[in-house]
Amino acid sequence: MRHGNLFVISGPSGAGKGTLVAQLLSELPDAWLSVSATTRKPRPGEEHGKHYFFVSDEEFDDLIASDGLLEWAQYGSNRYGTPRASVEEHMALGQQVLLEIEVQGAFQVKEKIPSACLIFIEPPSLEELENRLRGRGTENEEVIQERMRTARVELSHKMEYDIQLVNDSLPEATRQLLDFINQKAEQAQ
Ligand code: 5GP
Repeated sequence: MRHGNLFVISGPSGAGKGTLVAQLLSELPDAWLSVSATTRKPRPGEEHGKHYFFVSDEEFDDLIASDGLLEWAQYGSNRYGTPRASVEEHMALGQQVLLEIEVQGAFQVKEKIPSACLIFIEPPSLEELENRLRGRGTENEEVIQERMRTARVELSHKMEYDIQLVNDSLPEATRQLLDFINQKAEQAQ
């Protein structure tokens, strides 16, 4: 059994984190993706307990008050947080635990768990990012512009991450990420 490690994956919305993480999960049998709590409303097709735990503002306040979150952050007009207990359980089982979270949360995790590896996924360009956000068709213009502003801020933090990966080609980015995770998992043996 490999030693449990924590990998934090961030990058602008639309950089392709979700697709990359799905690839990792299908290729790494001992990987586990944390399910976050959020006050955001579900998008079509999203399921409670699978994509997120969709909670009310009051429930989110309770999670914070009971120290139930490893980290949390406000993103746009919603809050998002990582349930602490399940992350600790899966690490103790020797799994490679993946968190797909934004930058403020990533730095909180690094402060609490210094051995966590921070991975930043970049889009090939800001123009390409905007195209991808529009192509999704799930967000209105105001949200797209807000996400582009946030993307610029997020990109300004990329050098504070342990590695940066440009998601130009999905197979290539997946291979690089798999190599990185496997290397870290072996080092920690
Ligand atoms: P979305 O609303 O598009 O699902 O997510 C918006 C942003 O919140 C994304 O950058 C995503 O990575 C981030 N996010 C999702 N879950 C968490 C979490 O538990 N904590 C933090 N800090 N960010 C999260």
